[in-house]
Amino acid sequence: MPSSADLAVRIRSIHERIARAADAVRRNPADIRLIAISKTFPVEQVRAAAATGQVDFGENKVQEALQKVEATRDLALAWHLVGHLQTNKAKKAATAFAFIHSIDSLELLQKIDRAAGDGGVAPALLVQVDLAGEDTKFGVPPDAARDLVFAARDCRAARLVGLMTLPPAVDDPEQARPWFRQLRELRDRWIADGMPAGMLGELSMGMSHDFEVAVQEGATMVRVGTAIFGTRDVQPA
Ligand SMILES: *Cc1c(COP(=O)(O)O)cnc(C)c1O
Repeated sequence: MPSSADLAVRIRSIHERIARAADAVRRNPADIRLIAISKTFPVEQVRAAAATGQVDFGENKVQEALQKVEATRDLALAWHLVGHLQTNKAKKAATAFAFIHSIDSLELLQKIDRAAGDGGVAPALLVQVDLAGEDTKFGVPPDAARDLVFAARDCRAARLVGLMTLPPAVDDPEQARPWFRQLRELRDRWIADGMPAGMLGELSMGMSHDFEVAVQEGATMVRVGTAIFGTRDVQPA
């Protein structure tokens, strides 16, 4: 298990790689947020990473995430839910997470907004877009995603801040580029069509093996697990 010193080196190296990728396309590296995906790793690893200054952490399973959120209440961390959220857990999720990247239905959006209002919180939400039309993936196709962005204008407490995508797994990071580009172009087109730009500022895309390509294509949030914490023993669904 990596020590706090190991984690500091890895996280610094990822920041350097983000900065190089951003420089290459004349973007400001400060516009890119590194989310450390701690799924399957114990809360001690989260604490060790937090000790290096890492603030944003992500999980893909609600139950596991809620435990870590609870166990790190003493730290000022921002928790991201990057995996599927069932509507019956919307209420808990609304108050536990600063960011929910997996909005994929109107019912979920409305439930989170209502719970956020009741709880006096304002979680940031991203619509998960399924660009490849994969049956096995969560997220909604572009047309339905557009409807969700439209509907999010009526949110009272929760705030839509952007789009997220999880493209099909590929060996060569360059093969992921068209998907990342597609998400950015979709966002740009919707803004040109009159969607409020403030609701579409964030693009959550890129993981351990392809985050540099994602940064070049406009990612504002990269979700990195393995490159920080190491290989996961259990492959989560
Ligand atoms: C696990 C996971 C990641 C991180 O994947 P790595 O390849 O370990 O960096 C990113 N996004 C989502 C949605 C995940 O489930």
